[in-house]
Amino acid sequence: MGKGWTIPIIFGVFILIVFIVRLLNPVELDDLTPGIPCENELLKKADILWVVPNFENNSIAQNKTWCNEILSLNKTIGMHGINHNFREFKENITKEKIQQGVEIFENCFGFTPVMFKPPQLAISKEAKILIEESGMEIILGSNQLMHKIYHCNDSDLVKNWMVKIF
Ligand SMILES: [Zn+2]
Repeated sequence: MGKGWTIPIIFGVFILIVFIVRLLNPVELDDLTPGIPCENELLKKADILWVVPNFENNSIAQNKTWCNEILSLNKTIGMHGINHNFREFKENITKEKIQQGVEIFENCFGFTPVMFKPPQLAISKEAKILIEESGMEIILGSNQLMHKIYHCNDSDLVKNWMVKIF
């Protein structure tokens, strides 16, 4: 084989490794909340469900039917922002707001969230400290490349059909 093959082969092996890692890593579903319609197929596929506790100020705790439906799926459930506003955890986040989100989550599911993923994966240093103090582990999804991450409402960047294929 000539030298000209080195780069294509390295590239090919890299793609293959990413493909396998994506198959082995848990499948995640972002932006789950009663106000955002979500395909059943996506709910079934996912291992980790990332729930928004108070999207557009609609507390998930007010919808017990929904809470029980999600619980009955028997998946790992994490907290994904509070209102899921744009760059919510980059600015203006307080301990009280986080506590409010945690309480809504608890009222819905009957347990305290231990995992937290900020909307758009954007989080400030100060917010990181507040989240850690509240007892949650921050999961940045270790990026979209190594995980299959679906979005209930389709993300702006990586569409669900792309995730399905690769
Ligand atoms: Zn999100």
